[in-house]
Amino acid sequence: MNFLFDTTIDVSRRQFYVLAMGSCIGNLAGFLGNALIFGWGGTTIFCGICMLLMFAGSFVGIKMGQIRYASYFMIAVLSLVEFPVLYYIYQAGTIVYMVLAIVGIAIFIPTGNAIRFAGVVIVADVAAVILAYMKPVENEKLSKEAVLQSTLCSLLIVLLCVFLISILLQIQREKQQEEVKELNEQLKEAANRDALTGIYNRRYLNEYLGQLIMEEKQEFDAVLIDLDFFKHMNDTYGHGFGDILLVEFARLLTKYVKDKGIAVRFGGEEFMLILRGMTTDEIRKMLEYIRREYKEFTKHEKNNECSFSSGVQHYTEGIAVTVLYRLADEKLYVAKERGRNQDVFEIG
Ligand code: GH3
Ligand code: MG
Ligand code: MG
Repeated sequence: MNFLFDTTIDVSRRQFYVLAMGSCIGNLAGFLGNALIFGWGGTTIFCGICMLLMFAGSFVGIKMGQIRYASYFMIAVLSLVEFPVLYYIYQAGTIVYMVLAIVGIAIFIPTGNAIRFAGVVIVADVAAVILAYMKPVENEKLSKEAVLQSTLCSLLIVLLCVFLISILLQIQREKQQEEVKELNEQLKEAANRDALTGIYNRRYLNEYLGQLIMEEKQEFDAVLIDLDFFKHMNDTYGHGFGDILLVEFARLLTKYVKDKGIAVRFGGEEFMLILRGMTTDEIRKMLEYIRREYKEFTKHEKNNECSFSSGVQHYTEGIAVTVLYRLADEKLYVAKERGRNQDVFEIG
């Protein structure tokens, strides 16, 4: 049954499975019911042929991939041949089949064609009803029991088919909705991440800070970090190694920041940390750990000890995010001026 709900399968194909299932089961039940009630006469053979056509249509659709043609063929046989003929022969309760056919057209035929198709079928159904009244078929008079049985059989088959088709389509829709929701979340997550390093990007930082600032009594620090002489590393060891350095540095930031805030790629070889509820000392220590590991990494990789500089700005209530960035940047500038490889908390 999984193939019915597997969202990796094209939606029109999954819908066709429902049509195939509903029409084959419904026709099999109709054929057997007819045989039981009326014996092996011409009408039972007619139902048997229609059932075989449903099997053939399902085969063409599923095995040969001709879903569109197969759907039109199967629904045309049901709505224009089988159901009007059955009504013409039995009348009474078989009229519910016509209702089933029109529901099938609305569900399984593409909208534009469904309207035209339904128009033709309605004309055919009305013609069958009028013809059955004006020129009833010359068969032996049906007993009251046979009419009752035929009505019940038709009713049960239609109820079963409508229920089966509706519930299967409903489950398919629910699965599809779950998938869309999941994809939306993945998309949102991807939009918040930097493509190279996988850490948060500036777009997310702005959103995060926007929310953080709204909360009352916020205590946090913004640390703007810039890798020292990064252009030189790129020029000496290639852009590819520059990328490796950025990825490794981002990994170090995430490792140390953990649940204390967020690590963001601010742009190029600049990063920003938002650290919540940490003292100056704790921040200083954290930056030193990161500095040591970064140095060890570049020494191990290229026997070249790399460093970074940073400006640490404590958030004071009421200042705009752009001002926070500017103040952190001013401190970063001072760190560069003072010879790099250091963190500036205060200017002066
Ligand atoms: P400073 O110590 O003054 O910061 O010098 P710097 O060389 O680090 O600074 P500069 O602004 O001169 O160079 C930054 C370099 O970062 C230039 C740019 O090519 C490189 N860069 C920016 N984004 C990427 C990236 O995604 N991958 C790689 N490999 N390099 C990048
Ligand atoms: Mg820079
Ligand atoms: Mg730099």
